[in-house]
Amino acid sequence: MSETKSFLKEMITAPGLSGHEKPVREIIEKRWAGLVDETHVSPLGSLEGLKKGSGTAPRKSVMLAGHMDAIGLIVTGINGEFLRITDVGGVDPRVMPGQPVTVYGREILKGVVVQPPDRLVEGHPAGTPMGLDKLYVDVGLEAAEVAKKVRAGDLVTFGQMPLELGDDILSGHTMDDRAAVAAITCCLEILKKRFHQWDVWAVATVQEEVGLKGAMTSAFGLEPTLGIAIDVTHAKGPGTSEKGIADLGKGMVLGMGPNIHPWMYKKFKEIADELEIPYQVEMMAGHSGTDAYALQVARGGRPTMVLSIPLRYMHTPVETVSMKDIERAGRLLAEFITWLGDENTADIRWED
Ligand SMILES: [Zn+2]
Repeated sequence: MSETKSFLKEMITAPGLSGHEKPVREIIEKRWAGLVDETHVSPLGSLEGLKKGSGTAPRKSVMLAGHMDAIGLIVTGINGEFLRITDVGGVDPRVMPGQPVTVYGREILKGVVVQPPDRLVEGHPAGTPMGLDKLYVDVGLEAAEVAKKVRAGDLVTFGQMPLELGDDILSGHTMDDRAAVAAITCCLEILKKRFHQWDVWAVATVQEEVGLKGAMTSAFGLEPTLGIAIDVTHAKGPGTSEKGIADLGKGMVLGMGPNIHPWMYKKFKEIADELEIPYQVEMMAGHSGTDAYALQVARGGRPTMVLSIPLRYMHTPVETVSMKDIERAGRLLAEFITWLGDENTADIRWED
C-alpha cells in the first residue's frame, strides 16, 4: 500500500502536460524497469512496457492503457508583471483563483493564480466565476524580469502538493489518470509472481486529454488482441446527484456500453464475483471518453474494456481517490490476465 501511495505521489508531483510528458515518463520507466521485460518509447512519447507471456509464440497480447498526461495551463501572453493563461486539456476555472502553480519559463518560477476584483473587470457580473481569460498568474517579479524569463507557450502546472486524508484517501492534481498508471503498476507487480500465457503491453499513453492520440498510435503499432483502458470516473461527492455515479472506496467501476465488448465485461464481472473483489458498474451510453475509444477502433477493431477508478472533483487540483480502489483495480487486471489462455478465448464474438 505505502509503496503504491508513494509512487503515485511521486508521479503527480512531476510535470507532464499533454504533449510534454517526458518528466513523468522517466519516473514511470524507472519503476517499470524491474517489472517488464523491455520498454520502448513510441514516436509520440508513450511508454510501452512488454511483459512476455509463457505461451508459445506467436502469442496473443493484451494492452493496458492508462494516460500519463496531465491537464494544466499555458501562458498565452504577458501583461506587465502578470501572465495571461489558458488551459491545456480542460481545466475548471472556478477553482483556479488562489492556486499555487509552477511556471516552466527560461527558469522554473513559483506563481499563484489570481483574479482581479469583480468591480474592476468591465462587464463582469459581480459574484460570478471568471473565465481563464480574466485570470492571471503572479510570479512576484517586475515586468522587465518577467519579459526576460517567460514567453507565450511556456507551460504552467498545478503546484498543489499531495494530501493524505483519513487512512485511505489521497488528494492532489493529476490523479486523472496517474491513479490508473499506479493501478497498472500494481497489476505488473502481481504478474511478476504469477504465470500468464499472453503477452502484456503496459502503456502509459500521451495526449489523452487532447484527443486520445497516444492510445490511438500504440494500439495501431502494437496490434494487441484485446485492449483495456484504465481511467477515472466521477465519484459521489457533496452536491452530486445519486444517479449513475460511483462511490469512493467501494471498488473500481466496470464500464458497459457500446465502447465495451460484451464478452470482456462479462469476464471481468465473473472474475470479480468469483474472487469477491468489490466492484461497481457504470453504464457508458455513448463514447466512454477514454483511451478505450482508440483501442476499440484500432486497425480492424479490437475487443475493449474500460476499468475506472472512482474520483471526486475531476479536473481540479484536488482530485481525490481511494488507494484501496487503485489496488483492487490492479488485482482484477492481474486476475483477468492470468486467466487468459488460448482455449478460453477462442470464441470471442460480439453478442449482446
Ligand atoms: Zn482521464
